[in-house]
Amino acid sequence: MQQGTGEKNLVKQKDDLSRTLKRIDRKGYKAYKDIFGVYDFGGYVLAVDHVQGDPFAAPSRVCVITKRQATRFSQDLFSNRIRVTAAADFLTRCFSDAAKRIVRGGRGMGKSGLVGIDRPGQEVLPRNSCVIDEDSVQVRFVVGLPAAGRTILGNEALSIFFEEIPRVVEASLRVGPVDERAFREHVDAVEDQEVLRERLGEMGLVAFVGNGSILPRRSGVDDRPLTSGAIPFQSPESLRVSVDLPHRGSVIGMGIPRGVTLIVGGGFHGKSTLLVALERGVYPHVPGDGRELVVTDPGAVKIRAEDGRYIERVNISPFITNLPYGRDTSAFSTDNASGSTSQAANIIESLEMGARVLLIDEDTSATNFMIRDERMQELISKEKEPITPFVDKVKKLHSDFGVSTVLVMGGSGDYFDVADTVIAMENYLPEDVTDRAAEVAARHRAARTDEGGEAFGEITQRTPVPDGFDPSRGKRDVKIDAKGLYKILYGREDIDLSGLSQLVDESQTRAIGNIIHRYATRYATRGLKLSEGVREVYRDMEERGLDDLTPYRTGNLAQPRIFEVAGAINRMRTLSVK
Ligand code: ADP
Ligand code: MG
Repeated sequence: MQQGTGEKNLVKQKDDLSRTLKRIDRKGYKAYKDIFGVYDFGGYVLAVDHVQGDPFAAPSRVCVITKRQATRFSQDLFSNRIRVTAAADFLTRCFSDAAKRIVRGGRGMGKSGLVGIDRPGQEVLPRNSCVIDEDSVQVRFVVGLPAAGRTILGNEALSIFFEEIPRVVEASLRVGPVDERAFREHVDAVEDQEVLRERLGEMGLVAFVGNGSILPRRSGVDDRPLTSGAIPFQSPESLRVSVDLPHRGSVIGMGIPRGVTLIVGGGFHGKSTLLVALERGVYPHVPGDGRELVVTDPGAVKIRAEDGRYIERVNISPFITNLPYGRDTSAFSTDNASGSTSQAANIIESLEMGARVLLIDEDTSATNFMIRDERMQELISKEKEPITPFVDKVKKLHSDFGVSTVLVMGGSGDYFDVADTVIAMENYLPEDVTDRAAEVAARHRAARTDEGGEAFGEITQRTPVPDGFDPSRGKRDVKIDAKGLYKILYGREDIDLSGLSQLVDESQTRAIGNIIHRYATRYATRGLKLSEGVREVYRDMEERGLDDLTPYRTGNLAQPRIFEVAGAINRMRTLSVK
């Protein structure tokens, strides 16, 4: 069979694989190395790309490559880039479901018998667990090659390769077993969300929340929709907009306009839930998630306080000046940031990368960064307070740079003076209280003084030096991996990403590690600014896909956003900036 996927190895017959497995049965585990290679299984090609060293090591990497024609899926499912991304996501889920159903597992020690694929969550991301090109579909997964102790269980391996995997392929990569209606619904839903995202700009919006959306999640550790007692979202009349989508047709919901938007309301009335939905709205969601019509500007970045973080030469002077003992805030560095300096740095670093919208929740903000009232202004004079509170900068951020803010603020009315839109959450439903907030503000004139000055201030672009990115550890030249969603092992360093709440998939975290390495070796060495250098890596990925990030074929990378990549670089304690 022709593969059209650039397999360098000679394609062997599947009987070669069965002969090898019989031959190495009961031998030492290392003999499994003999099954490395590419095999023709008739309907598909199976590539054993990497063989694990022992039953407890990371399982072996395997890939199935099938002709697109052989799948018999309609061509329209793959007719543009976003549909291909959605289709690859859907087929990954199908493969995962089929493997769960069909694969017996538990065929010996350690991971023996496992057949696993990188499982997506509620968001649909470009990922390389499934790669679809003009004429083929590749699915990459891992297999735990079975053993008792270190003794190869050849017959168990035969069952996996000759019974289970063929059935999984049949169940997940062929029309019939795969319901093409559900497939199309998935692809159409994702395309609709991307079209809606593109339209936000021309409608003057930073986000759209469709009527009927289910925003609350099942629990803090379960991202699926709350099933019982969830109140569906309903737009207030005055913020209602309608949009025509290619597949779903006309949809109605709340448009959040550009500028400064406050979300107010009593505690436990759904403010943070709305904001989290907006954070996640930078990604498309699967049908049934409840947030399929919650779509946010792709340049929206969640900002929070993150005390303890590392900061390297960030110009935080728009917010902070006159630190004790004359510390420079135009190139501010610290190993241990305070709440306010970390929040200031998080904003400036996001602006440096071209953020268009800031999403802020009072729950995770530093109070002294957000507000400074009249009484405090009188007691502690401006000269003695290094911080210019966000309330005095938020409007200038929009007028000077066109950057909007959506802010959850139930605790201070000082923001009424600077808000363009005020949304009140009451019993989980939004109300437009912009006019009432303006009346209240007029009645109780704030006696506080605006400390924000004429302009927002300068956003300084920084240029990292390449020495800060040594990826070696021990005997390894390059040791980069993800450890959970919020941690990257990069050489001898652990990068803590727990401040980056818009990361949604560990495979994104893994990709960030690889992107940093690419950035460091290709672009930091050229003296490019951080934002330019990271964008260059994305240009490469645009052309060559996520596979460009690793020297060999993997299936466990998902695309992160530039903001989280820069966020990780900025949190590397070895980062050094010119
Ligand atoms: P706030 O930030 O206003 O204090 P939260 O957004 O944290 O409130 O929500 C409080 C609780 O209400 C959470 O447990 C959340 O899951 C739940 N909740 C939020 N929105 C809804 C809704 N539309 N329907 C049902 N429960 C909701
Ligand atoms: Mg809250």
